[in-house]
Amino acid sequence: MNRVLVPWQMDSAVPPLGAQVLQLDGQTMGTTWQVRWVGQGSGQHSQQAQAVRTAVQGVLDLVVEQMSTWLPGSDLDRFNRASAGSRQVLPEAMADVLDAALWLAQVSGGAFNPAAGALVNAWGFGPSPRYTDPGFAPPDSEAVQAALARQDWRSLRWDRASCQALQPGGVWLDLSAIAKGHAVDLVSRRLAAMGIGHSLVEVGGELRGQGLRPDGQPWWVDLETPPPQSAQPPLPTTRLALHGLCVATSGDYRRVYTHDGQRRPHTLDPRHGQPVSHGLASVSVVHTECLWADAWSTALTVLGLQDGLALASAHGVAALFVQREADGRLTETLSPAMEALAE
Ligand code: AMP
Ligand code: MG
Repeated sequence: MNRVLVPWQMDSAVPPLGAQVLQLDGQTMGTTWQVRWVGQGSGQHSQQAQAVRTAVQGVLDLVVEQMSTWLPGSDLDRFNRASAGSRQVLPEAMADVLDAALWLAQVSGGAFNPAAGALVNAWGFGPSPRYTDPGFAPPDSEAVQAALARQDWRSLRWDRASCQALQPGGVWLDLSAIAKGHAVDLVSRRLAAMGIGHSLVEVGGELRGQGLRPDGQPWWVDLETPPPQSAQPPLPTTRLALHGLCVATSGDYRRVYTHDGQRRPHTLDPRHGQPVSHGLASVSVVHTECLWADAWSTALTVLGLQDGLALASAHGVAALFVQREADGRLTETLSPAMEALAE
């Protein structure tokens, strides 16, 4: 059986007659981007396509220069390396991201933590050391404790008005769980500012759809599902009309290694310092802002099915949880707001 999710509201603007879907792609943030839009002209070399490529790559490059832990000299990197007790001015464009990340850290009881960069590095999911490096070993309990002592997001004293945050000493910010979604929102808004109101923007699997396709249909996408283990039936397809909506999926199958027979996925639980291991294979979140879809999907992945479902329900978040059962079967649970999209 397949499932169809449609938005609560449709707007009435339709693409002009004779328009067609144009498409461009490229690289960013260690992954790919793709933009489809309804426009005029044809081919990747039309004037409009060139303007779109320049605009999209410009927006994405700026997000990387500000929020990447991977780019030496990014604003985030500068903050992370700043001396203890110094106040650092961060770009105004980071304010929405930090506000959202710190709010979610609070409401999730620290399950989502934008200051967990030292822990991310210790487990080999930061720039160095990489879990793929020859001879890489996961951190021992002493190293985990040392990383946990460096992740107090409350000590940042973030002040939105002056865009300043305190580096209390050794705190390593990591916005990778939210920045991709934010970048998707920014690209979509940039296209709208160029007069392109019908578009589908994707960065590394996070998507935002605005307006309609030339045939009057919304941008239909299938939710990403974890690969089933052999001999298990695949999950039903969930097809979503991305009309003024975004979707992000976090999963335990994307960046993962096995050590001593245990799965070590790149989503970590900052409350005890270990990679998540409660059997949640993926969480997809549908939201009007991709920043929130991205952040919530990571937060709910950390919380696990029971606590994640409770928090998603309390905040009206549309989430689809895929649990890996003991016998290898995958089972799905929808939050009430996700059920409402399926009605
Ligand atoms: P995502 O793919 O959006 O779920 O983001 C995963 C990335 O977020 C990881 O590669 C880490 O850089 C970072 N991360 C891991 N665990 C957490 C956490 N508990 N809170 C915030 N960020 C995290
Ligand atoms: Mg995320």
